[in-house]
Amino acid sequence: MLDVQNLSVNYGHFRALHGLDLTVNPGEIVVLLGANGAGKSTLFRTLAGLQRPSGGSATWNGTPLTGGRPELSVSRGVSLCPEGRLLFPELSVEKNLRLGAYTHRRDRAGTEQELGRVYGLFPALVEKRNAPAGSLSGGQQQMVAIGRALMARPALLLLDEPSLGLAPLVVEQVLSAVQQVNAQGVSVLLAEQNAFAALGIAHRGYVLEGGRVTLQGPQHQLLNDDRVRSAYLGV
Ligand code: ATP
Repeated sequence: MLDVQNLSVNYGHFRALHGLDLTVNPGEIVVLLGANGAGKSTLFRTLAGLQRPSGGSATWNGTPLTGGRPELSVSRGVSLCPEGRLLFPELSVEKNLRLGAYTHRRDRAGTEQELGRVYGLFPALVEKRNAPAGSLSGGQQQMVAIGRALMARPALLLLDEPSLGLAPLVVEQVLSAVQQVNAQGVSVLLAEQNAFAALGIAHRGYVLEGGRVTLQGPQHQLLNDDRVRSAYLGV
């Protein structure tokens, strides 16, 4: 499981996360709701080893993730699909996907098998496999970004705002793929502005405000919470 305890992150004198406690149990989809600047990306970057915390701990199955070494987080089974996708637009779809398997590069058969699985999950990418990633639609680029994260064969997938800027139908496709990945045994921590759609597939959720958890609970409880409904569901 992912166990985050009392995690704090500073940028210089600015504290972005204030003693955060959060868990993701095996097999769960956990959604992280919060406005811009709430600290969602900071948490993800810290779990992915891209940002060092100033206090507290984050462990995956008991092993620390917070050493500030991204390759260690990946080899421990934690894979980040970053906000904004960060693809290599000039490289083909398939080359972008293969980059995700870098830590397993010696296991060629395993990489081919994983590639097949990603194409199975996102059939639209098959005919685009040789196209530059930058030439794809926003939704397809998001599929490449998720696919690349899956190529590392994660046990925990960190998804930062996968539906940002996508049309509602595409959001549905992307979140349904996340559900399929989860059904295959991958735990998911999902940050979303699109709270209604995200809560639709999540088991539990946390609300993050100003770098603090202000609310947490199972899906149905958050969906019915007045504060969540007015702040994040627009009702
Ligand atoms: P968004 O969806 O806009 O990315 P977020 O919830 O992911 O929002 P973060 O990006 O984690 O929020 O930012 C949390 C806070 O930390 C914000 O106030 C932001 O301005 C600040 N921050 C983020 N990155 C840095 C940085 N590199 N240096 C200084 N402050 C930063």
